[in-house]
Amino acid sequence: MENAADTSTAGSSGPIVVAGAGYAGLHVALRLTARLRNRPAVELTLVDRHDYHQVITELPRVASGTRAADAVRIPLQDMLARRVRFEQTEINGFDLAGRRLLTGAGPIGWGRLVLALGSRPNDFAIPGLAQRTLSLYSASDAERVWAAVGKTLTAAAAATDPERQRCLATVVVGGGGATGVELAGELAEILPGMASGHGLAPNRPAVVLVEAGPTILAGSSPQLIGKATTVLADLGVQVRTNAMIAAATEEGFRLKDGQLVEGGVFVWAGGVKAPELVADSALPTGHNGRVKVDQHLRVLDHPEVYVAGDLASVTDPRTGHVLPPLAQVALEEGETVARNLDAELEDRPLEAFTFHDKGFVVSVGTRRGVADIAGFTSGGRLAHVLKDAIEWEYRQSVKHLRGWDPVAR
Ligand SMILES: Cc1cc2nc3c(=O)[nH]c(=O)nc-3n(C[C@H](O)[C@H](O)[C@H](O)COP(=O)(O)OP(=O)(O)OC[C@H]3O[C@@H](n4cnc5c(N)ncnc54)[C@H](O)[C@@H]3O)c2cc1C
Repeated sequence: MENAADTSTAGSSGPIVVAGAGYAGLHVALRLTARLRNRPAVELTLVDRHDYHQVITELPRVASGTRAADAVRIPLQDMLARRVRFEQTEINGFDLAGRRLLTGAGPIGWGRLVLALGSRPNDFAIPGLAQRTLSLYSASDAERVWAAVGKTLTAAAAATDPERQRCLATVVVGGGGATGVELAGELAEILPGMASGHGLAPNRPAVVLVEAGPTILAGSSPQLIGKATTVLADLGVQVRTNAMIAAATEEGFRLKDGQLVEGGVFVWAGGVKAPELVADSALPTGHNGRVKVDQHLRVLDHPEVYVAGDLASVTDPRTGHVLPPLAQVALEEGETVARNLDAELEDRPLEAFTFHDKGFVVSVGTRRGVADIAGFTSGGRLAHVLKDAIEWEYRQSVKHLRGWDPVAR
């Protein structure tokens, strides 16, 4: 995040277009709807390829069959006031000079643009990874993981060779961050019950979590890592740290030290990067292709374009580190962007973005979790209840924001 004058730019008239209806973009649209109540002339358009918002934080549950995919797809029409024009289309590029978003439905002109296109799985150019692994970044991805798990258990049950059966009944998750830990934990808890339905012994399925670094949940407190490791061990997850994947082959993950990790299903949860669309644009990008912004979340040299969510490269001045791609961060950035767009319209000074860390919660399995909040670490049932409460609160807040402007619906 770089410094820039905290004044709004002149000529802020024209439609406001929000690209992406994920955590950040939807929040901007909902907040602005209320703020624009007395400004009927300002057009507000939200653009997304889907006509629903995806509650991505709940995907590990869909991938392990404990939640239906449709339960994490919330129709946008249920959330948006009539005040917001919604365009369902694919965004293909940006015409920054002409102030147009290039989409499958034709160009969409903007006076102010908010880019909130999220991120994509990053395969770090590891050979074979993109072709041979499933990812977990949408409800459809999660459905594919769940279907693949069912298919491989069926194949395992039909295998006569015990070694082949063991291999087929193993799910391998690459990446020991929060997503990988949540997925591995959920699967480890669900698979023994599923096994009997497939005619397999309950202890036949296995889950392996492969992490390149020395620890899972890198960057978290040693206490949190310790508690998560204990729960995973208790669930029977085989955690392999210092295990860098060199290639994904027909046989499995080939590690840098030559070892092979075999399995029936391989899921990659090892990191994210900006969508290719952004890499191909003239926008200034930093680490993993995220877009560089000033302290008001406007693109450097393009003050008429804001960025929020995973796509924004925002350095926390207190730590000097770029903020992680988290829903919590996306929502706070969306809040600041909505306030700054409103400030521009009101000719008020813009506010600088400050992140207020509410803590870190990871579910590990269907009943337990780990949490670091306000310097305290907890593990077990309470942390899982907390994760459930955060997800419930998010769904309520979305409904609540819609309720802010009943007149406009
Ligand atoms: C499995 C998983 C679990 C997670 N769990 C947590 C958690 O517990 N807590 C937490 O804080 N974070 C979690 N995260 C991270 C969190 O989901 C992201 O940080 C958050 O979704 C980022 O919000 P966003 O608005 O930037 O992007 P997104 O929510 O991904 O939204 C981007 C939107 O842009 C749309 N879009 C993208 N490209 C185009 C295009 N070309 N044309 C049209 N539309 C487009 C997409 O359809 C989508 O609606 C998790 C992530 C994953 C993958």
